[in-house]
Amino acid sequence: MSKTQKSIAILLLGPPGSGKGTHGTLLQQHLLLPHISTGDLLREHVQKNTFLGKAAKAFLDKGSLVPDELVSSMLLHRISLPDAQGGYILDGFPRTLPQAESLDREIGASHEIVALYFAVAEEILVERITGRLSCPSCKQPYHRTFAPPKTPLLCDQCQVPLASRKDDTPELLRERLLHYHSDTKPLLAYYHSKDQLFSFSGEGPREIILQKILSHPLLAKISPLSVQ
Ligand code: ADP
Repeated sequence: MSKTQKSIAILLLGPPGSGKGTHGTLLQQHLLLPHISTGDLLREHVQKNTFLGKAAKAFLDKGSLVPDELVSSMLLHRISLPDAQGGYILDGFPRTLPQAESLDREIGASHEIVALYFAVAEEILVERITGRLSCPSCKQPYHRTFAPPKTPLLCDQCQVPLASRKDDTPELLRERLLHYHSDTKPLLAYYHSKDQLFSFSGEGPREIILQKILSHPLLAKISPLSVQ
C-alpha cells in the first residue's frame, strides 16, 4: 500500500440479528480483512475471567451496553495489532456516539470509513435470533431453520458442537433492542452527515445482500470478485 493510500475501516451497523455477524464473516473471506466483533471479544474475556471480563459480565448478562471506556480501549488495542494494519471490519463497534467519536479521533485521518447499515424489520429479528447457533471454534454462524448445519448441531468445518448465546432469549433481545434504539440508531444520522453511510435491506438471501455490499465503490475496488 502506498503512503498516501488510506486503509479501510468497514463498520457494520444494525440491530441484533440484522446479519452483522454473518456478513462480517463473509466479508472477511472475500476481502481478506480481519472481522473484529466486540461482542465476541467481550465474551472471550468473560470466558477467560479476565479483569475486563469480570467488569463486563454483568452488562452482558442483562443485555445492556458495556461502558464506553472499557469497550473503546479494548477495541483500540485490537486494531493496533499487526493483522489490522491493512484495514478491518468492525462488528458491533461503535454502538454509541462517544464510541464513534473516539474511533474518529483515532482513525479519522488515516482510514476511509464505510458504515454499512443492515435494515431489518423487528419481527424478523426475533425469528432469526431465537434460532441462531454458531461454532465456538471457527465462529461460523448457523440457524436451526434458515441455515442448518449438514449434521444436526455440528459445525460443517470443525465438527464441534454448535452453541447458542446466553443472551439470545426473547427477554434479553427486547432489552438489547431498547439499547439499539436509544444508543446506536443515532449513529445512522452521524455517519449519514459525514457521507459515510451505505444503507440497504438486510432481508432476503445472503448472496444478494453480499453482492449489494460489494457494489459499494470503495469495497468493489478492493474485492477480488467482480460484482455483476
Ligand atoms: P448483537 O449485535 O446481536 O447484540 P453482539 O455480539 O454484537 O450482539 O453484542 C453482545 C453484547 O456485547 C451486547 O449486548 C453488549 O452487552 C456487548 N457489546 C458489544 N459491543 C459493544 C459495544 N460497542 N459497546 C457496548 N457494549 C457492547
